[in-house]
Amino acid sequence: MEGNMEYEVLLYYHYVHIEDPEGYAAEHLKFCKDLGLKGRILVAHEGINGTVSGTKEQTKAYMDMMHGDSRFADMVFKIDAHNGHAFKKMHVRPRKELVTFRLENDIDPHEVTGNYLSPKEFYEAMQEEDTVVIDARNDYEYDLGHFRGAVRPDIKTFRELPNWIRKHKDEFKDKKILTYCTGGIRCEKFSGWLKEEGFEDVNQLHGGIVTYGKDPEVQGELWDGKCYVFDERISVPINRKEHVVVGVDYFDGEPCERYVNCANPECNKQILCSEENEHKYLRGCTHECRVSARNLYVKEHELSEAEVETRLEAIGESLKMKA
Ligand SMILES: [Zn+2]
Repeated sequence: MEGNMEYEVLLYYHYVHIEDPEGYAAEHLKFCKDLGLKGRILVAHEGINGTVSGTKEQTKAYMDMMHGDSRFADMVFKIDAHNGHAFKKMHVRPRKELVTFRLENDIDPHEVTGNYLSPKEFYEAMQEEDTVVIDARNDYEYDLGHFRGAVRPDIKTFRELPNWIRKHKDEFKDKKILTYCTGGIRCEKFSGWLKEEGFEDVNQLHGGIVTYGKDPEVQGELWDGKCYVFDERISVPINRKEHVVVGVDYFDGEPCERYVNCANPECNKQILCSEENEHKYLRGCTHECRVSARNLYVKEHELSEAEVETRLEAIGESLKMKA
């Protein structure tokens, strides 16, 4: 199977009214399972947001079926070739919102949203004066890769974004604002919200980062690092002209693009770290996580207490230290 690119990963969303999200989700799950797809799809009254993997035949059948439904007739699919499934299971879940924004007043992107910029327009606008590029994603996504010079909101989840913007309003209010996210769905609402907040010149990257990377003209230029994705690939390349590593190893600050989850399941924090440091630090982000009784790294490698102690000593710690 190695090198076999007969699979595809689809990424898509569409804001359109869905009458009965629970009923639709159940029916859609059965359809996807019957097709043999794997992935994660959210369904809400406001629309659908999904990412699925399957063989080319399976993904084509899925796209044909969706386009045959008048609600999704013009839905855009971003397609990546891959060498197998990018998910372990198939989930379709009804939700209140497609992206958790939890605004006091919800935004309907059909009524208010930022101007859509094509990759070429976005590329040019980024280089104009008095432009600010705001990353609409989470901090760990930014840390692996982002547009050169983009602002990194210090947030763990999307719903923290409005408060963060309000705190920094003065820095952005007279500027041309450009927003971007992975596939475009978060910006649909975020850019609409910015307009409602009184920002005047608000623009969003149409189709998101993944579309920008596929554009034959810009070829991902001015993107540094890789793009975080929510499937087993973890990241995908974007800039086809040059590759600048911006991620840094959590432990030693060296350039790094390898994400792992902290081995303490109660923490599970995503950290960038080399294989060498994963072994050295027992894949724990803190001393507490390293010595956790549930440390998965210690379990996977069947380390004895003496072996754990030897590793800890090498980094100036000990099992006897207070966690
Ligand atoms: Zn941890």
